[in-house]
Amino acid sequence: MKTVECINVAREAGHAVLSMDGAEYSVNLDDLQKVLIDLYGEPTPRKASTELLRPSLLPKLAQCPCFVSSPDAGEAAERGTRMDAAFRNLLMGVEEFKACQHLQPDEKESILWAVKTVRMLCSGEEVIADKNRCTFPQWHPRVTGGEADCICPILGKLFDLKSGQIRNYWEQQASYAKSIMEREFLDEVTCHLLFCDQQQIVTRKFTYQEAVSIVNGVVDSVDSGDGPRLCEYCEWCAAQNTCQLRNQAAGEALTLAASGTLEESFAVISQDPVKLADFITKAAVLESYVEKGKKKILEYLSNNKEVPGFKRVSCKGKDTVEPENVAKYATWIGVPKLLKAYGSLSAATFRKLFTEALPEKKFPEELVKTGAGYSYVKQTPVPKIKTNK
Ligand code: SF4
Repeated sequence: MKTVECINVAREAGHAVLSMDGAEYSVNLDDLQKVLIDLYGEPTPRKASTELLRPSLLPKLAQCPCFVSSPDAGEAAERGTRMDAAFRNLLMGVEEFKACQHLQPDEKESILWAVKTVRMLCSGEEVIADKNRCTFPQWHPRVTGGEADCICPILGKLFDLKSGQIRNYWEQQASYAKSIMEREFLDEVTCHLLFCDQQQIVTRKFTYQEAVSIVNGVVDSVDSGDGPRLCEYCEWCAAQNTCQLRNQAAGEALTLAASGTLEESFAVISQDPVKLADFITKAAVLESYVEKGKKKILEYLSNNKEVPGFKRVSCKGKDTVEPENVAKYATWIGVPKLLKAYGSLSAATFRKLFTEALPEKKFPEELVKTGAGYSYVKQTPVPKIKTNK
């Protein structure tokens, strides 16, 4: 029997790609466990370095080199996959009704915006969305190949559709950008992230060297055994409940609360921006458990189990009338009265309706009223402090 010399495993959401001497097999996670136990006597490869990283994991590993992806695809990921498929199909010329039939109205609106944006940014040049032509082979010994959503080789453009919150994805895009530059003989690539739910484009250029160093930087940090860093992805990390740093952080926040001097301690902490940032990061770990705890309490109360100090509050759903039914009575009620009851439209929606109805007319900018702005804080990754080893 021939001996297998090189084994790589890349876990995806719900399945894994097992590569044995270059031959790739898609296996479910249970089968993967069995194969690994057969080979190693344990469910993980002996050397962590045999596990390949997916490009989509790189932004998370850039924030915490110990991040562990969860095999559970989750609702948001399923929504993203559905929207990705519609986006690709529309760009490949599939008829709108067919391409968007599985989408909710808001998802469809987001996707149509993304498709229109790609066409506009490519000004009539060829856009490639075919999976086979957007797939890139593995180029880094530790990172799998990947698949862009669409590319425009002639303009050196790479597009990635993103649903959900606006986040950083540059490490993933760097991996694709390097492959495109190599395949299309380009010196640089412009990457457009299409945050379709917000209808926002975020753009960045990559040179070849930049793209390589970004990916190398993440892999080096993982392979050199850098410790965990609390980050915005902790809630998605499969190690969140056992992570030592997270447990320690929660412990420290609790100690402060238990010391009985919360007000005085906080007064001291709040004088120092570094201490304040550290405290908020640690307290956020507890906050996430408060949310989980509330869900559990609701479960108890719904099953008639008493929870001291808590009661279940049920709110009746809002009574509404669909717009098409309102329209039937518009003549009697009067359109101005109805519009007043509906209230102000977002400028973006009005602009869209106006442009569709009167494409040759200039949009009346003077009608747009801007409300009062507001500020809030958002946590950003803390730059890694270099230490001499
Ligand atoms: S839970 Fe721990 S290992 Fe996971 S991302 Fe957060 S700090 Fe990193």
